[in-house]
Amino acid sequence: MTTITLVRGDITQQSVDAIVNAANSSLLGGGGVDGAIHRRGGPAILADCRKLRASHYGRGLPTGRAVATTAGDLDARWVIHTVGPVYSQSLDRSALLVSCYRESLRVADELGARTVAFPAVSAGVYGWPMNDAARIAVETVRTTDTSVDEVRFVLFDDEAYAAFAEQTG
Ligand code: ADP
Repeated sequence: MTTITLVRGDITQQSVDAIVNAANSSLLGGGGVDGAIHRRGGPAILADCRKLRASHYGRGLPTGRAVATTAGDLDARWVIHTVGPVYSQSLDRSALLVSCYRESLRVADELGARTVAFPAVSAGVYGWPMNDAARIAVETVRTTDTSVDEVRFVLFDDEAYAAFAEQTG
């Protein structure tokens, strides 16, 4: 059984086996949670990302996929980078958001990670409505077969925390 926990706070302060990053497909860093992870984790994370780009993802990591690097100076063993879909009102991209959580958990299982912290993927700059992002996140974790013991959603503000609490309450 995977336990879902909610924390209001900064994902870069978490002590877990793996921290999931809402990355962009370049893997070269960005704003939001991605920027925070690279800032606090230090240059080793970007160095690993560059190697992955050179070896496997010259065209970028596709949306919905996930890949692991070192966690650098963070209090974690790995960062799992996943690329969320940009929200669209005209197209239903929710399968890609589901895939971010499934693929991240699959990578976590491959690594042997037992505690994994997730941000609200796609719910920032990528524009996904928070309530729907929370529903997809929680439903997907609940319905994914994984060896991860704890999935910790780390929510950066009250709105995000309330949306996830509604799904788990
Ligand atoms: P995306 O591009 O996938 O939308 P963002 O980083 O813009 O990714 O936002 C995803 C979510 O992460 C948003 O709810 C944002 O408020 C939140 N966030 C930003 N910084 C942090 C942080 N340090 N820890 C946890 N969540 C964060």
